[in-house]
Amino acid sequence: MRRLVLALGVVLVGLAAAVITRTLGVRSRQAAVAPVSPEPVDTTALAQRLAGALKFKTISYQDSTQFEGREFDGFQRYLRESFPKVHATLKLERVNGYGLLYEWIGSDTGLAPAVLLAHQDVVPVEPGTEGKWTEPPFSGAIAAGYVWGRGALDDKGSLVGILEAVEHLIATGAKPRRTVYLAFGFDEEVGGRRGAAHIADLLASRKVHPAFVLDEGGALATGLIPSVAAPVALVGIAEKGYVTVELTAQAEGGHSSMPPKETAVGILAVALTRLEHDQMPRAIRGPTADLFDFLGPEMPFGPRLVMANRWLLGGLLAAQFGATPQGNAMLRTTTAPTVLQAGVKENVLPSTARALVNFRILPGDSAGSVLEHVRRAVDDARISVRALQETVSNPSAVTSVNAEPFQLLARTIRQVIPGAVVTPWLVVGATDSRHYSALTPNVLRFVGATIGPDDLRRVHGTDERIGVQAYANSVRIYIQLLKNAVL
Ligand SMILES: [Zn+2]
Repeated sequence: MRRLVLALGVVLVGLAAAVITRTLGVRSRQAAVAPVSPEPVDTTALAQRLAGALKFKTISYQDSTQFEGREFDGFQRYLRESFPKVHATLKLERVNGYGLLYEWIGSDTGLAPAVLLAHQDVVPVEPGTEGKWTEPPFSGAIAAGYVWGRGALDDKGSLVGILEAVEHLIATGAKPRRTVYLAFGFDEEVGGRRGAAHIADLLASRKVHPAFVLDEGGALATGLIPSVAAPVALVGIAEKGYVTVELTAQAEGGHSSMPPKETAVGILAVALTRLEHDQMPRAIRGPTADLFDFLGPEMPFGPRLVMANRWLLGGLLAAQFGATPQGNAMLRTTTAPTVLQAGVKENVLPSTARALVNFRILPGDSAGSVLEHVRRAVDDARISVRALQETVSNPSAVTSVNAEPFQLLARTIRQVIPGAVVTPWLVVGATDSRHYSALTPNVLRFVGATIGPDDLRRVHGTDERIGVQAYANSVRIYIQLLKNAVL
């Protein structure tokens, strides 16, 4: 017995030593750069020009017949008037109607170009919620230190901010060595197939192989990451895939006075319950593993110890991190039943019941593996399972954090926002950048806007806004990025 206790003690001491050695051995992954002095920009004028852009109702509706070309015409006219130097200097092509492709031609054609993306369209304001906005959603009001309106964060702040940066640099006499494309789609919120996909095809047909593509997807988070007080720049190095699966249950229809033991509705309900119970497995891998590798060294000893010792404590970390919907979404392919349809009359048994379940696919899984999982979890021959083909989009490739474009963006962010912690990130939504994946392995998803815990609900929700100072800093990041990457 004593020998057993002794042996156990030796094992525990060894384990503790290994854990502590690993923890003390982690080194910061943050680039060592000196801060630059803040670029002189007219913060008030920046806010006003963004506010003006938010007045146009460039809305993407699910029903494409509701598309209002006039609003997009007005928005594009506004861009021409607001950014005269950009429009006098860069080449502009219209692609498939409302797509905008600007080219700032570099002096060294041997350098691979840079491509900056943003989208002109916004999501609609949910009917009935207009009155809940502090400032009307399309008023472009500036109040209490914020620019308010639909599109302030997603994604006109980014589109107008990019144009501000180029306008500013032209005014200082800058000329790029590397060619820069600015590519602005107009239907990102409904998949980007008419805008971004066409622009990407055009660039591909011209054999353009960008050094990197930069799109939205991550931001400067404050107060979102526990144990890290500094702003954390979440740079999306991958995005999840997407598939909606249709489940259809068949059963005997008829009068509801003499129902069979199992009905179409009941069979479908069981299947949905099974799917919610039996989710796809959780895993710390790819971009989420990178996130922990970059965040860990910046954290106090306790959490740093957990992050550095995932070989031992990975299960604990996953359980804790996955306890919130946001954390869970970064660890697995998620399951979300979204549509239920059955029945036409309250006393008639429907012969079919149908459900749609939306899955967001973790890199490493695929639409095919999701279908396999659904069939296995449901395990009922009376239910037909199929993927809605038009919804299928597999997860993106993962951009290397060791390649120069990620490193360059990381250095840029820390030059402009001293002390910021830059980390790779998995984007759980979809962006236009996925249409560019065949053009370059280096796709980065980041805008310099500051996002607090309270802002996540504002994107696509009520009271979308961007801080006046935060917006100016996001423009400074674009300016610095262009200086570092292309001038
Ligand atoms: Zn967006």
